[in-house]
Amino acid sequence: MHGTDCIFLLRKRACDPCFFYLFAREMTEEMVEKAKADYLLTRGKRLVPKAVLFDMDGVLYDSMRFHAKAWKEVADRYHLAASEKDFYMYEGRTGASTIDILFQHTFGRNATEEERERIYKEKTERFRELNDGEAMPGAADVLDKAKMSGLKCLVVTGSGQKSLIDKLERTYPGCFSPEMTVTAFDVKRGKPDPEPYLMGLAKAGVEPNEAIVVENAPLGVRAGVAAGIFTIAVNTGPLSDDTLKAEGADLLFPSMQALAAAWDMVVGAG
Ligand code: MG
Repeated sequence: MHGTDCIFLLRKRACDPCFFYLFAREMTEEMVEKAKADYLLTRGKRLVPKAVLFDMDGVLYDSMRFHAKAWKEVADRYHLAASEKDFYMYEGRTGASTIDILFQHTFGRNATEEERERIYKEKTERFRELNDGEAMPGAADVLDKAKMSGLKCLVVTGSGQKSLIDKLERTYPGCFSPEMTVTAFDVKRGKPDPEPYLMGLAKAGVEPNEAIVVENAPLGVRAGVAAGIFTIAVNTGPLSDDTLKAEGADLLFPSMQALAAAWDMVVGAG
């Protein structure tokens, strides 16, 4: 590409506020206000945040890379066609649903109950071996700011880890409680169905326009949007920003640190 072409492209694309954001890596007040105005327009209610519903993997913990690696290893073992990146697209689904997709793509049929159980067990064991339990950089700052803003903090996850609350308490002391947590055990239908987020609203005792969802996965964004909640996508993985925006995210940040930096703008009156 010639220099002049490059300048032309930059000028052309700089008219798009999302490109400006990617270019500048900075969320402006104007962009936040526009997102809130768009929410009011489409939902008929102003965003008045009282609670934040956090997804867990890829939002509170830097764990998606280990989930993807564990899934890929087990898929290879069973000759199931998938790339590591595919598992970022499937994130949020139940294990059984993910395994059925792999079987459909490879063999044109769903997995049997026995296959589902065996493969999911092996994946869970491998994830436990790989996972280092690292918190997502910036997540503690977002939680601090949310608490200082007087917002209730909830976790809404498709995870079925037995010791979830203990783990959350170790990483984020005093932030979450069992009554304010929605897990795989609480819902019939996982993300992308809105049920987990609707249950989060019920547990928080708030309306959709009184909550904010923080999600990293396309299907999680879809679930938050379907629940009528102002949904913030945080792109902490290898997928394109467009993949998250296509699911209807109201705002998009490149990291939890960037969300923490813009937090006061997001929860402020508007
Ligand atoms: Mg996630």
